[in-house]
Amino acid sequence: MRTNFDALIVGAGPAGSTAAILLALAGWSVALVEKQSFPRRKVCGECISPSALPLLSALGIEHELTHAAGPNLQRFALMRGPDTVVSDFPQAPDSAYRWSRALGRETLDTLLAEHARELGVQLFQPCSLVGIVGGPGAWRCDVRDLNVFATSTLRARVAIAAHGSWEALPSDPPRRQRRPSDLLAFKANFTGASLEEGLLPVLSFDGGYGGMVVTERDVTTVAGCLRRDKLDVLRRGKLGASAGECFEAMLRQQCAGAGEVLDKASRQGPWIGAGPIYPGIRLSAEDGLFRIGNAAGEAHPIIGEGISMAVQSAWLLCMQLLGEDASPDRLSRGRTWQRLVARRYEREWRRQFVPRIRLACAFAHASMHPRGSALLLALAKRWPGFLPSGSRWAGKIRCAIHPADVARLAQHHFAHVALWPTSIP
Ligand SMILES: Cc1cc2nc3c(=O)[nH]c(=O)nc-3n(C[C@H](O)[C@H](O)[C@H](O)COP(=O)(O)OP(=O)(O)OC[C@H]3O[C@@H](n4cnc5c(N)ncnc54)[C@H](O)[C@@H]3O)c2cc1C
Repeated sequence: MRTNFDALIVGAGPAGSTAAILLALAGWSVALVEKQSFPRRKVCGECISPSALPLLSALGIEHELTHAAGPNLQRFALMRGPDTVVSDFPQAPDSAYRWSRALGRETLDTLLAEHARELGVQLFQPCSLVGIVGGPGAWRCDVRDLNVFATSTLRARVAIAAHGSWEALPSDPPRRQRRPSDLLAFKANFTGASLEEGLLPVLSFDGGYGGMVVTERDVTTVAGCLRRDKLDVLRRGKLGASAGECFEAMLRQQCAGAGEVLDKASRQGPWIGAGPIYPGIRLSAEDGLFRIGNAAGEAHPIIGEGISMAVQSAWLLCMQLLGEDASPDRLSRGRTWQRLVARRYEREWRRQFVPRIRLACAFAHASMHPRGSALLLALAKRWPGFLPSGSRWAGKIRCAIHPADVARLAQHHFAHVALWPTSIP
């Protein structure tokens, strides 16, 4: 078994697999370490923004993506209590991908990881990263095989953290204590729901928010977050019910629109839960690891931008790692060169994502509180441009990667040469 790599990536979610594919296409040897077996369900609203669709397609999964994903999401609704306000989504500039589409994470993540494997990425799965020492240019990573519980050591010159935000890496500082305001996250799939085709409702209720979407094969995904203290109250009133069942009962009761959609629906499998979520920016840890996806930073999922930010951040990092001079020799420049790459990547990451993280925070907090949500509803009713503008400000239709760079990859003019000599837009 090979144990020395140009790059080791922790986590095969959308961020990790995207980076693995891009680096492998440029001729790098890549280890991708993922602790869960795929396909697996994951707590997520599963809506993919139009800003990410061309990037995912260019990786080489266009056919599967366009055939498997649910219908174009052309309209969205804000639902709270008895109220529903519907609006059109703004259209993205790329005529092939004007609107968001939804795809189950069991399908999307498996597609990407398998494609990475086909391109020569060595996929260690189910394997967990249990130790990481060293630094840029010379990382030593201990990886435990979760089937046989044997640990092996892998070495890499570049290490990329793409492990999401649910779990910490062995090298991360301890997480903060539990708080009543923690947001716990839930997801379930339903059949027989009456969600109008092409509509994406955002659900607002006291202490949380959520969303509903039609994914592949007419399955409706319902996902959302709820404060820990609110959930505790619900659970005390519903002894014996799971946390997810309490969440569903609350949704049906507090949000008339959601109740109507789910009226005749049957749930497929149990609710899955995770959390708490950790919205915020974690990019500038001084440990020499490159961070992408949720490991770098996370917007409140109310704006449904996490997959897109994961994919875009992987592209941004790989453009820096591979730009100008992609020869593997460059890697031997080690610490100094990697610091330079990190600085450039961080600057671009902040420019692209900090505004939407802040906007998502404001929107999430408003929609969780009675007064804030009343204001949102009033604005949405009186000013038809309010929701579409919010969606634009959330970055849903703006891609961080220049179309010329996407096209260059899609045309397969890339192997072993500088992939991205152009500057980032
Ligand atoms: C309720 C909710 C709804 C959401 N809805 C949407 C939506 O509609 N649209 C959207 O775009 N985003 C949505 N998101 C956000 C989205 O799910 C995340 O932003 C996205 O999954 C981040 O991708 P990632 O690749 O960074 O991390 P992840 O998808 O979390 O992948 C990380 C991977 O790393 C693995 N891992 C972790 N630790 C280790 C380790 N030590 N060793 C090996 N492997 C490890 C994990 O098993 C996992 O597979 C939602 C989130 C929530 C909570």
